Amino acid sequence: MELKPFHYWLLTFSLTIAGIVTLPTAARILLIIVAVGHGALLVRGIVDLKSQFFCTARCAGPPMSQQVCLTFDDGPDPAITPDILHILQRYGYVATFFVVARKAAQHPDICRRALAKGHTIACHDLTHSYLSNVRFTGRAYTEIKQALTIITEVIGRRPMLYRPPVGLMNPHIARALSRLGLHCVGWNRSTRDGGNRMLPKIRRIATLAAPGAIIMLHDVAPVAAYRAEVLAQIEALCAAIKQMGLHPVGVGDMFKVASYA
Ligand SMILES: [Zn+2]
Repeated sequence: MELKPFHYWLLTFSLTIAGIVTLPTAARILLIIVAVGHGALLVRGIVDLKSQFFCTARCAGPPMSQQVCLTFDDGPDPAITPDILHILQRYGYVATFFVVARKAAQHPDICRRALAKGHTIACHDLTHSYLSNVRFTGRAYTEIKQALTIITEVIGRRPMLYRPPVGLMNPHIARALSRLGLHCVGWNRSTRDGGNRMLPKIRRIATLAAPGAIIMLHDVAPVAAYRAEVLAQIEALCAAIKQMGLHPVGVGDMFKVASYA
C-alpha cells in the first residue's frame, strides 16, 4: 500500500488525541491547537484533490509541454453534448468525457459517437449523488464497479480514469479506487460554473487555456437562456487554444497512463 499524507495524519492525530486525554492541562491546550490544525488539513484534503492527501490525483500536466486537456463532466446530455462534439470536430480536438454511468446507459449513442471520434470516455461515478461523498469503502467500491460495468457495456471498453463527484475525496473512495486499479483525475483550471448554472462564470470559460492545464467543463445543458453562451464560450476556448499553439490531448495521453483496461 502506498503511504499518502493521510496515513501520517492519522498517526499524528491519534497521538494528539491520546495526549489530550492523558496529559496535564497546560499540555492539553497546546495539543488542542494542534488538533484544530489537523482538522484544517483534513478539510483541505477532502476539498482539494491537488493536495494529494488521500491518493494520487492527476490535476495538471507539465507546463512546458504545450499540451492541454479538455475535460467535460456530468454528461452525456443530448441537449448539449452533440453540439460540443461538433465544435471539437471542427477544431480537430479531442477531449475526455467523465460520464455519469446512469446517463451513459440512457444515451449510449452519444458515448459511442464520442469514442468513435477519438475522445476518451472516463468514469464520473454511478449517479453523481451528493451522498457519493459519504459512502463507506464497501459501498463506494460496489457503486464505482457498477458504474464501470455499465460504461463497459456501452462503449465496449472498461475505463481506467475516474473523477470523483464534485471533486471531493476521502479515504473510502481512495481505497475503492485503489482496489479497482483506477487513476484519479482532478483539474487545475475551471470557472466553478456550478454545472453551467452561473452565467458570469460561464463567461470566463474562454480564459481557461494554459500550457499543461486540465480544464474542467460541464456537458450538461444549462437553462435555455444560457445555452448559446456556453457553446459560444467553448468555441472561444477552442479558438484561444489554437491561438496559443496548444495541443489538446486525452488525459491518459498527457499522463502516459492507460485510459482503458
Ligand atoms: Zn460532476
